[in-house]
Amino acid sequence: MSFSSLGLSEQLVRATTDQGYETPSPIQAQAIPAVLSGKDVMAAAQTGTGKTAGFTLPILQRLSENPRSGKGPRALILTPTRELAAQVHDSVALYSRYMPTKSAVVFGGVKINPQMMKLRKGLDVLVATPGRLMDLHQQNAVSFKEVEVLVLDEADRMLDMGFIRDIRKILALLPAKRQNLLFSATFSPEIRKLATGLLNNPVQVEVAARNTAAEKIIQSVYPVDQSQKTALLSKLVRDNAWEQVLVFTRTKHGANRLTQKLERDGITAAAIHGNKSQGARTRALADFKAGEVRVLVATDIAARGLDIKQLPQVVNFELPNVPEDYVHRIGRTGRAGESGHALSLVSADEGKMLAGIEKLIKKQLPRKEVEGFEPRNNLPLKPKAKADPSRARTNNPNNRGRNSSGNRSSRSRATA
Ligand code: AMP
Repeated sequence: MSFSSLGLSEQLVRATTDQGYETPSPIQAQAIPAVLSGKDVMAAAQTGTGKTAGFTLPILQRLSENPRSGKGPRALILTPTRELAAQVHDSVALYSRYMPTKSAVVFGGVKINPQMMKLRKGLDVLVATPGRLMDLHQQNAVSFKEVEVLVLDEADRMLDMGFIRDIRKILALLPAKRQNLLFSATFSPEIRKLATGLLNNPVQVEVAARNTAAEKIIQSVYPVDQSQKTALLSKLVRDNAWEQVLVFTRTKHGANRLTQKLERDGITAAAIHGNKSQGARTRALADFKAGEVRVLVATDIAARGLDIKQLPQVVNFELPNVPEDYVHRIGRTGRAGESGHALSLVSADEGKMLAGIEKLIKKQLPRKEVEGFEPRNNLPLKPKAKADPSRARTNNPNNRGRNSSGNRSSRSRATA
């Protein structure tokens, strides 16, 4: 299958060829014709599946069929984080390079005036985080009158981050006649509720089981005592000559502490989390991408949607509280066909979390001990309760987004 056989114009096909894409990814093969048909779409897709091109390419095609009459925007793409907004906008700019389409991105944490100036010039596609978009609207810097297409990207994370009120306010301001596209990694009851109010007879798009991304990734567990984790990480970075490794911690303080310890150990490192200014986050990411920083230490929310091409190595310095976050984290490596390694440093007190993860991904991860770092307290070899396939959340959409006790997983913004 080719991009042109999906009905995309020559300019768009050329832009995908420039990116080295040979064939559409499974989500693209389903989403592109659905969006081109003008229908509402509800897609279960996580980062790494090619979902951004899955909605951007057909939106650009539809917009190109009629020129803009006013200042726009005609397509509004809402994302949960600033980094994701910037990345989605980079994709919009790349894919529209052979078209007259104009686009912009707005998010909080940076000055609002330059964003107002950009909007005043007129544009077709606007990528935004909800809070800043509301501010701009309240200051009459943006009008929603011409919005033809709305995208909620990573809708589950938007709800987790508390954006539901802003989203509902924005929805109430949009023209009633429009196309709605909802992309979400999980379909929890809250997302279904949002979808019911938002989408009109949607085409449902779902690519294979939610953990397929993880199959290309070589995963392992390093049992180690908590107090030895930093030393083991330093050793692994050095022994394996890792030049670019993304490391996850559970808290912002943990990220700062680890970064300092690695730096003291002679390993260049930077932290990226919610307490850092936008400038500091952008700089850390740029230094990491340029190879000036070997280790990027991130919290879950900060790392969400980070698109770093061919990231070979991801390390969980601590396991996430929510098993689904493990899948998101390791999805940073082995993206779109590349293979990658994900390893987790796990101390005995994290045994329960490990069991939850192994239950979700339906496999036991191989344990590897490193000489000199053998833990005093061993990890359980097998998850205690064997996964019951009839209740596996992979197959039961109603279970998605729930933790092992059946409750909707709650994440505090304070840990982001
Ligand atoms: P996304 O899921 O949108 O974050 O995309 C993940 C990564 O896959 C990005 O680096 C894209 O550039 C890349 N990608 C998207 N579509 C394709 C494709 N059809 N073939 C190869 N790579 C792709």
